[in-house]
Parts: sequence; C-alpha cells; structure tokens
Amino acid sequence: MNSISIIGAGIGGLTLGNILKQHHLDFTIYESAPEIKPVGAGIMMAVNAMQIFDKLGLKEKIENAGNKINGISITDESFKLISNTNVLELEKKYNSCNVAIHRAELQKILAESIGVENIKLNHSLNTIQKKENYVLQFENETTIESKIVFGADGIHSKIRNQIFKTGKIRNAKQICWRGLVDFELPEKYHHEAFELWGKGKRFGFVRLSNKKVYWYALINKGNHKFNSSVIDYFYDFDPLVLNILESTLEKNIILNDIIDLSPIPKWYSENLCLIGDAAHATTPNMGQGACQAVEDAYVIGKLLEKNKDFNTVFKEFQEIRRKKVDYIVNTSWKIGQISQWENGNSLRNFLMRLIPESVNQKLVEKVIQLEM
Ligand SMILES: Cc1cc2nc3c(=O)[nH]c(=O)nc-3n(C[C@H](O)[C@H](O)[C@H](O)COP(=O)(O)OP(=O)(O)OC[C@H]3O[C@@H](n4cnc5c(N)ncnc54)[C@H](O)[C@@H]3O)c2cc1C
Repeated sequence: MNSISIIGAGIGGLTLGNILKQHHLDFTIYESAPEIKPVGAGIMMAVNAMQIFDKLGLKEKIENAGNKINGISITDESFKLISNTNVLELEKKYNSCNVAIHRAELQKILAESIGVENIKLNHSLNTIQKKENYVLQFENETTIESKIVFGADGIHSKIRNQIFKTGKIRNAKQICWRGLVDFELPEKYHHEAFELWGKGKRFGFVRLSNKKVYWYALINKGNHKFNSSVIDYFYDFDPLVLNILESTLEKNIILNDIIDLSPIPKWYSENLCLIGDAAHATTPNMGQGACQAVEDAYVIGKLLEKNKDFNTVFKEFQEIRRKKVDYIVNTSWKIGQISQWENGNSLRNFLMRLIPESVNQKLVEKVIQLEM
C-alpha cells in the first residue's frame, strides 16, 4: 500500500513531488501519458513560482534553460504602448525573475529532481473509491491502495469528478493557438513579453532561448471560420506578427478553447486534496495557472513543517490559498473579456493608458507575493 499517491505529473504534481521529497516523505506519482511530454508550448514562470523553485534549489537550472523576462507590455496591434509593467524593482526585492521557458524543459527539470523511480508513467486513473483507504484503479488494470491522495490531474480531474462530484467547466468563447518557432527576434524584444490587442483578437510572444520564440494568438470563437488558419486573422497587425506566424511550421501549432473551472466550494476531503487546475483552473490571461499550482504545493509543504496531520494541513491549505486563487480566477476572466472587445477599443486603450504604472506594479506585487 502507498502512503501518499499523487495523480498527475503536470507542473503541480511534479512540484508537489519535489516538496514531499524535501520532507523525506514516501510518495508515488501516477501519470497517464507514456512519457513526460507536455503540450509543445512555452510558459511563463512568474516571480512567485521562481521564489519557490529557489527554495527547492532549482531556480538556476530553470533560469538557464529559459529566458529571464524583465517587463511585460500590452500594446495595440501596431505596438503603440497601452501599459507596461517593469518588474526589475520587484525582481530585486524578491530576488527572483520571471522566466519564459519551454514546458518540456521545465517538466524535465522538475521530474529529474524527483527521480524517475517515483513517477509511474502509463498509469491513467480510471476510478477512485474511498474504502478504509483510497482504492485507485488504472486503465492498465493496476489497482493500488493509498492512505493519502493528491489530485493534480488537471482541469478535467477524474478525482474531482468522482470524489467531489462537482466542477463546472466555463467556456470563455475564445480560441487560442499556441506556437513554437525558430525565429531571430530584434534585440529590443529579447527580455520583454509582449501582448498586442486588436479588435476581438490578441497576439502575444516571448523569447524562450537564443532562437526559440513562443507565441499565442486568440480570437473570439464566433469569428472563427472553418478551414481558416491563424494568420488569416492577423493581417491588420504589425509585420513582425505576420513574420512570426509565417515562420511557424503547422506541426508546431496547437489550438484549444479557453476554459476555466467555476470555483468549487471545497478542495479537500478525508485524506485527499486537489491542487492546481484540478482545484481552481483559471483562464491564462494573467499567466498564473501553473504558478498557482506551484504555490499550492509550496503552501502544503510549509504547513507540513508545523503539522504532520494531513487533514489539518488540507483544511488550513484551503483557508490560506482561497482568497488569492479566487482573485486570480475572477480577474483573469475579466481581463480576458476586456482584451477581446470588438468595439470601443480606442476608448478602452485610452482609459488603460491613464492607469499609472505604479498601480500596475502594485497589482503585480499582489500576485507575486507568497502567502507564507
Ligand atoms: C494558452 C495557455 C497559456 C498558459 N500560460 C501560462 C503561463 O504563462 N503561466 C502559467 O503559470 N500558467 C499558464 N497556463 C496555465 C497552465 O498551463 C496550467 O494552469 C497548469 O498546466 C496546471 O498545472 P497542473 O499540474 O495543475 O495540471 P496539468 O498541467 O493539466 O497536469 C495534469 C497532469 O495530470 C495528468 N492526468 C490527467 N488525468 C489523469 C488521469 N486520469 N490519470 C493519470 N494522470 C492524469 C495529465 O496527463 C497531466 O500530465 C496557460 C494555460 C493555457 C491554456
């Protein structure tokens, strides 16, 4: 019998594995995929997550595998500035940077640090039942019993669905392409992330390494025409955007709906706890979903330092994390709506330019500050 099982080897499950390892606890991670090969895209690990990776001794590895990002600019489709958040001061204060990195690189670093012997691939959870302990049945016909279970199995979590019987997925009615491309960006874009807002569409890009660029493009779902490709929607954007899109191979582009999880009342049950997207998936507009999964793992670790009783830890975990997570889910949803306006964009951009940079800085600091 396992003492602790984590279902899902995404960024949340792997960070939790690293935290439990630091506590010398015995655990096994079960992952449905045959290899740790996340969707081919980039991701931004903000200062909150990077502070935690620092405590795990992984900060430098992650920084070296990715690219440090000192500022985030929102502009119109022609690069006319709407708002800029410079995080250099905050980086100094928190001794960590934002890092843009290939997801596969990040997960490789997290998995290697845990040790492959603790991660069982090809184990797709089919059912979970609460008996004296939890009985976990996998599609490969393995059955195991576990005293403690963590559900880190993402937005469509089977653990959440079967144990809590809840979880309404909300569709933002936006679709999102993500791409990776070998592209030589002009130097002024090397350490800043950009998001260009047009009418009912957005394009963002960031440099991941010397030549690799990660980009994403969103349009309102109602405007999507069958058989069209992403570039068809961005001819009114700056030529750099078109260059990036033209240079991307079709096989390096993925397309998803933008969704989140309507807040659920409880993330834990007896000896079981949800973390990351399984508990509180958010839309990606603040670039915080995975960072929040990392924070979940960290807070569980901090609480375990004081108390070895998991049920007490789970209760306190939700009390500590709820407010920040709800703020991010709700704010991100609103940003997603405002950024995709189809009319009144000039007024929106004008009003947004009136917001002093110090206000933006404060909002960013609220997000990157750890709660413990
Ligand atoms: C377009 C887009 C851009 C984003 N950009 C950012 C960003 O820049 N920064 C950021 O912080 N976040 C970002 N996010 C959010 C981020 O991707 C998620 O919040 C994060 O991946 C959640 O991590 P997780 O470990 O909780 O879940 P997941 O990453 O979903 O991992 C769940 C794991 O569980 C496994 N699994 C699922 N079901 C089972 C099962 N039945 N049995 C066994 N294993 C199972 C899956 O295979 C997977 O490996 C973005 C999201 C999107 C859609």
